[in-house]
Amino acid sequence: MFNKGTKVYSIVNMKCPRCHEGELWRSPLYKLKFYDMYENCPVCGLKYEQEPGFWFGAMYMGYTFSSGALLIVMLITLFVLKWNIQQILTAVGITAVIGFIFNTRLSRSAWLNISVSYNPNWKAQNEAREKKREELRAQGINVDETSSLISQGHHGYESDNKVL
Ligand SMILES: [Zn+2]
Repeated sequence: MFNKGTKVYSIVNMKCPRCHEGELWRSPLYKLKFYDMYENCPVCGLKYEQEPGFWFGAMYMGYTFSSGALLIVMLITLFVLKWNIQQILTAVGITAVIGFIFNTRLSRSAWLNISVSYNPNWKAQNEAREKKREELRAQGINVDETSSLISQGHHGYESDNKVL
């Protein structure tokens, strides 16, 4: 269920949602560079920011994750461990700080996986797209202007996941 090819694999391992091989992040989490993200997948070339403002949605996802985590910590410390209010607030505070670091990355990874699906044929499709462009260039067609018909232009490879 959590093997390569599943969304859970891509989200948890912070891999490109399209090829499940390329990394999302340049630096490891402990370096605390929250948003040090590759622009394109280093393996298949998927553009991670699907459209301008794309990461805005990830912020809302992050709020949901963090409120959920804080609520769980609160319920466990209150009802299971029966801690006093200072102890509970300390636990919630520590969870919030640690959670923020992890959550900024997790929410982007999850958000990207909502729009992009795993595609094991990405290599063949990249090649087919490039071949098509070559054909158009040979016919004297300006590929940069028509590329949106083929690959959604600079937005990357949405056409792999959505029928045009
Ligand atoms: Zn990729």
